[in-house]
Amino acid sequence: MPSKKSKPADALRSRLTIPEYAMALAHVASLRSEDPFRKVGAVAFDHDNRVIGTAYNGLAPGFDADHEFWLDRDQRRKFMLHAEVNLCSLFTRGNVKLIACTTEPCTSCTQMLAAYGVKEIYFRDGYPDSEARAICDLYGIKLTQLTDYPLIISEFDSPK
Ligand SMILES: [Zn+2]
Repeated sequence: MPSKKSKPADALRSRLTIPEYAMALAHVASLRSEDPFRKVGAVAFDHDNRVIGTAYNGLAPGFDADHEFWLDRDQRRKFMLHAEVNLCSLFTRGNVKLIACTTEPCTSCTQMLAAYGVKEIYFRDGYPDSEARAICDLYGIKLTQLTDYPLIISEFDSPK
């Protein structure tokens, strides 16, 4: 029988960890984003590790932007609702334990997550100029970068 090159610990693994599971779900959610420049997905888990819901960045529900809108990368920024903002519309303060987000929360979103009582935040990609680390350190929120999780192959999953 050919030997596998996986580490013994990997061989014993039969399922995703909670953070891996969360990031995989956030990744799938990001694929629903209508933003051609930056697709961000997020998921929230409650204290029993049950999924509260998923969200992604985009324009306000019901607003349909025409093709011209998406041509100006900088102009669109102020209108985009971040994935974390949409996510927080799904729960009330204290009902959430952790969130995973494909991009590091920006300063404003990290403040909001602190206000909602989030205890753990996992992110995949860094976000420039975010003060997330300082905010999480001050409020005792665990902030962890997680880049190693099962990859999802999709035709939607590549930068334009
Ligand atoms: Zn944000």
